[in-house]
Parts: sequence; structure tokens; C-alpha cells
Amino acid sequence: FTGLEGGMGTLPGAIADACRAAGAEIRLDAPVRSLRRTPTGWAVTVGPDAGTAEETTADAVLLAVPAGPAARLLADHAPAAARELEGVDHASMALITVALRRSDLDRPLPGSGFLVPAVDGRLIKASTFSSGKWEWAGRDPELYLLRASVGRHGDPGAVAMDDADLVRGALADLREAVGLTAVPVASVVTRWIDGLPQYAPGHTDRIDRVRRALADLPGLRACGAAHDGVGIPACVATARAAAEDLLRTVPAHPTD
Ligand SMILES: Cc1cc2nc3c(=O)[nH]c(=O)nc-3n(C[C@H](O)[C@H](O)[C@H](O)COP(=O)(O)OP(=O)(O)OC[C@H]3O[C@@H](n4cnc5c(N)ncnc54)[C@H](O)[C@@H]3O)c2cc1C
Repeated sequence: FTGLEGGMGTLPGAIADACRAAGAEIRLDAPVRSLRRTPTGWAVTVGPDAGTAEETTADAVLLAVPAGPAARLLADHAPAAARELEGVDHASMALITVALRRSDLDRPLPGSGFLVPAVDGRLIKASTFSSGKWEWAGRDPELYLLRASVGRHGDPGAVAMDDADLVRGALADLREAVGLTAVPVASVVTRWIDGLPQYAPGHTDRIDRVRRALADLPGLRACGAAHDGVGIPACVATARAAAEDLLRTVPAHPTD
């Protein structure tokens, strides 16, 4: 399996480093609260609190936020696009990661993991045997890392369970599926609330309508997982296309 040494979580950091090296400024903990059109572009109000928020001006804005926040930011400027994005449903999920002592494993876990169809009625929907799947995750001579995921579209119950119950429930499913009896020496639960946009029938047409509604707004475009695909390669391709389209709508900078 191809992956990144240290996990996919290293990707945003690497992109941030590359952007900074190219001269970009990245502001963290800086949610965009609103957009205002100006004669030359956009004014963006940024900040976690209304009282301390600051306005920044921009020639162009690329909204790379999930569909819900994008809909709120577009409501005054492209209400039709906002309505379409508001209509995109999302699923939440949680990842349960456990570290097991290799000496507690009765036998090697088979393969790299498994998927669980909804009809099986289990808590977990998948498990990844991380230490068997990726070389970097299998280097520790004493510990074996394993992950399970829970949370299906339309069923928020699993994600709402507390951490201890999730770990217990995941281990019970793993015991039944692959005979795992080892007790973890550490566990962590990570929740991704509304992390996965759901593409209902007609999604492509919906996103076409979003694009058409934004086409008349110079200096403003949108991208992200709700558009042309949820996987990272699709997100990158969508972002690149949106950025190129955006640049076509703004006059060249005088110093370019
Ligand atoms: C648990 C999980 C596992 C996955 N595994 C894989 C995988 O193995 N392979 C794969 O290809 N894909 C995977 N995906 C899918 C993929 O990771 C996501 O679809 C993709 O990262 C989404 O990228 P994005 O830039 O559209 O959105 P995000 O990465 O969600 O970025 C949107 C950003 O907008 C910010 N934001 C929100 N509101 C505002 C605001 N008002 N102002 C400023 N910023 C705001 C958020 O804080 C966030 O940082 C996985 C997804 C999940 C949840």
C-alpha cells in the first residue's frame, strides 16, 4: 500500500511548509465570518469572535471550506449556490486507534484489514491493521497498531458513544471477526463530525449549478470534498481547477 511515512496527517503540514516557503502567510484559528464585495475584490472578516474579528481585503477568494460553511458565506452573494451546497448531506465518523503488545497477539492478523457491510449490523464498519499495512507503522518491535472506524450516514449513534464504549465495542467486533483478544496498552478516539459529504443521485448536476451560480462573481470560487470527489486526489484536482478558473476572473496584478 502506498502512503506517507507518519500517516496522512503529515500532508497538511508538508503543504503548509511548501506554501510558507513560497511566501504564503497561513493564519490558524481564523474562521472566516463573512465576505463583502468591494469595488476591487473582496473584504473578508476573519476571527473566532465577532468582537475581535478583523477585515482583510483580497483580490480573490477561493472557498476551500466544507459545504455548510461555504453555504453560509455565499448566502448574500450567490444564494442559489448557497442553497445547493446547503443541500449536501454529511456523515460523521470516528476512528478508534489502539496499540497492542505484539506478545499479546496469538497469531499474526491476516491481511491489511477488512470492511464490514451495514447489513452485518456491527458497530465497526472497517478495520485497518496499520502495523501490517504500512512499513513505517510496523517498525516498533513491541507494539502493534490497529484502527477501526465507526459511523454510517444517517446513524449518528455510534459517533456519539463515549470513548471507552467505542474502544470496548470495537474490540468486541474484532474479537468476533479475527479472534483478537489482546488488551490495548493505549487507545485514542478521533471524531470527524460531518467529515464525509454524501453524494446523492444528482450530485454532479447540483455542483454544476453551484459553478454556474458562482460564474458571474469575479474573484470568488469554491472547491473541496463536496464538489467532485471526496478522496484527496479529487480534492486536489478540484482545488487546482478552481484556482485556475479564479485567476482568470481577476485582472493581473500590476507587479505581475
Ligand atoms: C476519517 C477519514 C478518513 C479518510 N481517509 C481518506 C483516505 O484514506 N484517502 C483519501 O483520499 N481520502 C480520505 N478521506 C477523505 C479526505 O480526507 C477528505 O475528503 C478531504 O481531506 C477533504 O478535504 P477538504 O479540503 O475538502 O476539506 P477539509 O480537509 O475538511 O478542510 C476544510 C477546512 O476548512 C476549515 N473551515 C471550516 N469553516 C471555515 C471558515 N468559516 N473559515 C475558515 N476555515 C474554515 C476547516 O477547519 C478545515 O480545515 C478521509 C476522510 C475522513 C473523515
